[in-house]
Amino acid sequence: MNKIEHIGIAVTDLKAAGSLYEKLLNTHVYKIEDVAAEGVKTAFLQNGPNKIELLEALSADSAIAKFIAKKGEGIHHIAFEVDDIVAEMTRLKSEGFILLSDEPKRGADHKLVCFVHPKSAGGVLVELVQEVR
Ligand code: ZN
Repeated sequence: MNKIEHIGIAVTDLKAAGSLYEKLLNTHVYKIEDVAAEGVKTAFLQNGPNKIELLEALSADSAIAKFIAKKGEGIHHIAFEVDDIVAEMTRLKSEGFILLSDEPKRGADHKLVCFVHPKSAGGVLVELVQEVR
């Protein structure tokens, strides 16, 4: 895997959290995007070479709503950039990791994504992201 592509943070109020992280990082939200398939609204901030993805639930049954109900706001996942997501998914499966989908999905920010179940990754929800060119 390549670098950490972004860190995903679950929030209850995207607008308020966007302002908070703009102040914290001294930067600006450069993109807001709904990912309807995942039931989330996202906001991105660039911080040096890294990105922060803020995630707000679009509905009560979205994974983000469930996460916040259980654990509160906070770090939700760490995303790693990969060159070939299908090859990486195959490698991880052969190593015994549990993937949350059999095929890559279309994620925010022009990416193909796949999540690794936290149960198989030391309690951390890991996201693989491949840039779609
Ligand atoms: Zn993400």
